[in-house]
Amino acid sequence: MNKPSNGHSFPILRDGLKWMIDLEKLKEIKIKRKPIYCNTASVATQVLRLHERMGHPASEAMCTAIDFGAWKNVKITAEQVHRVMKQNPCLPCILAK
Ligand SMILES: [Zn+2]
Repeated sequence: MNKPSNGHSFPILRDGLKWMIDLEKLKEIKIKRKPIYCNTASVATQVLRLHERMGHPASEAMCTAIDFGAWKNVKITAEQVHRVMKQNPCLPCILAK
């Protein structure tokens, strides 16, 4: 469910608006830094999807939730959340600022 079928873009609902987020664009942002881990792609997708589903909380809030075990079905760590949110800034969050 809610799986990005082509892996290039996926919709984000925010304030009743639908944003099509282009993963390639997010990668560009990331590549301007250093692509540190190749295996972060799927983790990044998980983190960002979780981030959307929770209504775009700050990464600190997401880490707190993970530390408290609030998301037991999620196989990501607080450290990964921090890294992903740094490397893959959430576009709606950037635009909302
Ligand atoms: Zn966001």
